[in-house]
Amino acid sequence: MTVFPALVIPETLAAGPGPGNTDPRVLEAFAKTGVADHMQADVLRGMKEAKLMLRELWGTKNVYTFGVAGTGWDGLDCMHSLILPGDKVVAFVNGTFSSIDGLTIRMKAATDEELAENSLDPKPASVTIIDTPHGQSISAETIDKALAEHKPMWAFMAHWETGSGRVNDLKGFSDACVKHGVMGMVDAVSSLGVGDFNIDDYPGVVAWASCPQKGVLSLPLTYAPVSFTDKAIEVVKKRGCRTYVHHPILDARHWGIIDGKDVDAPVYHQTHSGYAIAAFHEALRIILGYGRARKASDYKYHEAALRQAVEAMGCEVTSNMPSLVVLNLPGKLAGREKELVQGARAQGFGIWPTLSEPVQVRIGILNQLSPEQITEIVSRFADAMLAMGAEFDKAQVMNQLKSYYAKAA
Ligand SMILES: *Cc1c(COP(=O)(O)O)cnc(C)c1O
Repeated sequence: MTVFPALVIPETLAAGPGPGNTDPRVLEAFAKTGVADHMQADVLRGMKEAKLMLRELWGTKNVYTFGVAGTGWDGLDCMHSLILPGDKVVAFVNGTFSSIDGLTIRMKAATDEELAENSLDPKPASVTIIDTPHGQSISAETIDKALAEHKPMWAFMAHWETGSGRVNDLKGFSDACVKHGVMGMVDAVSSLGVGDFNIDDYPGVVAWASCPQKGVLSLPLTYAPVSFTDKAIEVVKKRGCRTYVHHPILDARHWGIIDGKDVDAPVYHQTHSGYAIAAFHEALRIILGYGRARKASDYKYHEAALRQAVEAMGCEVTSNMPSLVVLNLPGKLAGREKELVQGARAQGFGIWPTLSEPVQVRIGILNQLSPEQITEIVSRFADAMLAMGAEFDKAQVMNQLKSYYAKAA
C-alpha cells in the first residue's frame, strides 16, 4: 500500500483566463462551515439566499435561476440538455470554448445513427456550425444571415469567447433570435461577474449558463449558475430532456423552485455540500457588495493598463475582453509562447497559452483589481520576456504604468 505525503499546494499568482484568485473570505466561508448535512436548516436557507442573490447579479426575474453543482461545463450541460436528437440548431463558434459547446450541441442533437457513426465527433445533419475566425468577434450580420437562412429551433453563442478573448454581439444575437423566432442559448461562463448586463434585456435568449471559477470567484468547487426563461422551461416540460442530474426542472427543486414558483420546502435528490453553499453565498455577497457596475468598470480600467504595458513591451494584443489580454509575442520571440508560459509557471506566475490554434499568450486579471496587483503582473511578465531575450526597457514600461495610474487618480 502506498500512502503519499500530505498534498501541499503552494500559493501562486493565477493570472490566466480563469480560475481567478479566490477571495480569502470565500475560502474562509468554505473552511469554517460546520459539519452539517444538506438538509440542515442553514444550508437550505443559504441555497435560497444564494438563488435570490444570483437573480440580482444576473439582472433577471427568471424563477429558474440557480446553481448546478460542478464547473462551468456542468451548467452548460444542463443548458444544452434542452436540445434533443434531431433538433435544428445553429451554433456560432469563434474559439476553443464555443467549439467545445458546438461539439456538445452536436452530441445532443445527433440521432442514434449519427452518433454511432462518429461517437466522439458526430456531424448531425440538423446542426450548422458557423465559424468566425479566432481573434474576431461574432457580428450581428453573421448571426442574422445564418438564422434567416437556416431558421433553426435553437441558436447558440458564447457571450465572451475566452479562448480568443473576444466579446461577441449579445444584443445582435438576441435581436436576431427574436426576429427569426429562434430560441437562443448563451455560454456566459466568462462574462458573469465581470460584465455589467441584465439577462432580462435580451429577450431572444431563453437559456444561460456560467461557472463558479471566473467572474464569480468561487472555485472551491461550488456552483455553475444557470438561468432559464419560462418559455425554455415550458419546452422541457412538454418534451422532456435526457438527463436526471442536470435536468433544469428537477435540479431547480433543490433550490426551492417547484412548478415555476419559489417554495419553502426544497426536494432532495443530490447531496449538496454545506461548505460549497457557504462559499458560493459569500462569493455572491462579495460581488453584490462591491457593485456589479463598479466591478465592470474597474475591470475595463485595469485591462487598459495591462494592455498598454504589454504593447510597450512589443506585444500585439488581439483580444477585447475586460478580464483578459490575448497577445502575440514580438517577432523575435514568435513561436516560443509555450516556453515563455512554462518559464513563468515555474516561478509561480500562472499565465496561459491559447488551448487551440493559433498559439498566443493569455494573461488574465480576475480579482486583480488594484494598481499594485496589475503592477505585479506587468513586472513578472516583463521579467519572463526579458529572460527569453526580449528587447525593451523595463524601467520605462513600469514608469509608463505608474503614470497611467497617477493620471487616473
Ligand atoms: C472556462 C470556460 C468554460 C469551461 O468552464 P469550466 O469551469 O472549466 O468547466 C466554458 N466556456 C467558456 C466560455 C469558458 O471561458
